[in-house]
Amino acid sequence: MSALVQYHVEDGVAFIGLANPPVNALSQPVRAALAAACEVAERDPAVRVLILYGEGGSFSAGTDIEEFGTPAALSTPDFPTLLRHLTQLDKPLIAALEGVALGGGLELALACGYRIAEPSAKLGLPEIQLGLIPGGGGTQRLPRLIGVDAALSMIISGQPLLAARARELGLIDRLADSADALLDNARAFAEELAAQKAPPQPQPPQPEPGAGLADDFFQRYIEQNQKRWRGQVAPRLAVEAVQTACELPLEQGLVRESALFSKAMESSQSTALCHVFFAERQADKVPAVERDTPRRPVAKVAVIGAGTMGGGIAMNFANAGIPVVLLEVKREALDRGLAQIRKNYEISIQRGKLSRRVAEQRLALIDGTLDYADLADADLVIEAVFESMDIKRQVFGTLDKVCKPGAILATNTSTLNVDEIAAVTQRPQDVIGLHFFSPANVMRLLEVVRGEATAPEVLATALGLAKKIGKVAVVSGVCFGFIGNRMLEPYAREAHRLVLEGATPAQVDRVLTELGLAMGVLSMYDLAGIDVGYLVRESRRDAISHDPSYCKLADELYGMGRYGQKRGAVSIFTKGASRKKTPKSLQLPSVWRRSWIFPAVRSPIRKSTTAAYSC
Ligand code: NAD
Repeated sequence: MSALVQYHVEDGVAFIGLANPPVNALSQPVRAALAAACEVAERDPAVRVLILYGEGGSFSAGTDIEEFGTPAALSTPDFPTLLRHLTQLDKPLIAALEGVALGGGLELALACGYRIAEPSAKLGLPEIQLGLIPGGGGTQRLPRLIGVDAALSMIISGQPLLAARARELGLIDRLADSADALLDNARAFAEELAAQKAPPQPQPPQPEPGAGLADDFFQRYIEQNQKRWRGQVAPRLAVEAVQTACELPLEQGLVRESALFSKAMESSQSTALCHVFFAERQADKVPAVERDTPRRPVAKVAVIGAGTMGGGIAMNFANAGIPVVLLEVKREALDRGLAQIRKNYEISIQRGKLSRRVAEQRLALIDGTLDYADLADADLVIEAVFESMDIKRQVFGTLDKVCKPGAILATNTSTLNVDEIAAVTQRPQDVIGLHFFSPANVMRLLEVVRGEATAPEVLATALGLAKKIGKVAVVSGVCFGFIGNRMLEPYAREAHRLVLEGATPAQVDRVLTELGLAMGVLSMYDLAGIDVGYLVRESRRDAISHDPSYCKLADELYGMGRYGQKRGAVSIFTKGASRKKTPKSLQLPSVWRRSWIFPAVRSPIRKSTTAAYSC
């Protein structure tokens, strides 16, 4: 038998263990080995029940994504054929779930007649996150097991459930006492099934999952959710597949699901999301950072600057249970920053994402200060002051004096040279760039900028910390704009040119949100701050002087003090505002009104295209 599957028989129970580390991906060789093991068990008259489990602490994280679109995905046995084979076994088959049973891993468990899981097991169908739908029977078997509502919720959210919740829903038959007891509990379950002469495939609780649903149930479901899905293809296909489970017998439903899965897989959205999936894993492999590279303990963090970025950065650490001290130059700015943090937590409470108790615990971890002496015991300091080399050098000069030896000194600069900043300190090996994106408490990306002198253990500590606060870290070298802002430049350039050519900001952003982006690029600048972009350009006027035309718009906005949401800059065209009340500095030049302001007034601007560009 293949090394990819462990097989042994004990007292009439065949134990079949998936053994494809690290997560038992169901690649073609694993599928073939599993099919072969099941055949051996089926032919062996001594075997009464089969137990399928995962070696190495996990049942299975699913099919092998690297096989997608390659001949291996279709080679014998392909995934649907294997599952069909399992459902046709003439002996009961129990899936014993430990760690994760995700995607194809859960569909494999659904094809087994019975399921038992240990308490910390996570069960889910995350295909939607790759722009796909479950294609191995998930959309057909799950509604028959747990009903349409619960199945749609699992499939559309892509979020996994813990075993206890899976038991409540009827997704599993038994909850094991613990991970250690899983196989013993599964064996006891097998004995019961054998004694009862239980059928290999019991009748599902809801053989007709559509019974009792309103005629327009699926239409209404789509109408209620389509705004949230924006231009995404996969959620609609998933709903169609679940609707099929309500309308067709299982066999025909599986064929239809397969066709819908192929449609999702051929979409450019899925191609892009799979690219992101692999890119994130690739970004995790950093030269010169090994598993055994030492990490420095980080028990206290300091953030300098309580503006747009500093507040959000502080929240990340408080959310992870790490105390933060937030430093500002003026009391007023500090109070404003702390108030904004409280407001952000209040919004989460109102949206039901956070309890008040937890929010208060997190707030209690954030202390404000105007005194650098309070940074003396910080293990990591992140500077998020104005984007000016002079100010940043001053700040790092002070940090060098007050911070303890071994403290990591990080800058959140968007574009400035980290080596130049490090050079003002006596410890350039401890200096690194930690470039968060706005809103810093929400966005997952964290650029980790490695300076010429940055020590490997400083880099390793930053990467470990990124994981701890739930960020995806990408390591960059020192160069203007690092990675994200270099990518953003042509995108923003063309958006601004479109506005100069007569499109309204709302029109530009609408194209992007209809494409599926969470926010249009002009709304994004409005959120990030028009002043931040201006300061970035100021530091590089020489490099962009050959073609400054596209910056004109944002430069003019800056000149008028229209920095965006941080200022809530009111326009003379905002409903109810009169021109007289608007300070001259905030009035728009008449040439703009002629070119794009009036069309914008006629087609009202979406709320998200706010302050600076609003009119
Ligand atoms: P901001 O203007 O909103 O906030 C800067 C804060 O720093 C202000 O509250 C100011 O009072 C404070 N400050 C200024 N000098 C200080 C000093 N010497 N000591 C202590 N505090 C001081 O700016 P921001 O948008 O938060 O940007 C901060 C940094 O983050 C910049 O380097 C910027 O390029 C970078 N960044 C910004 C964004 C964004 O979207 N806004 C994204 C990534 C990185």
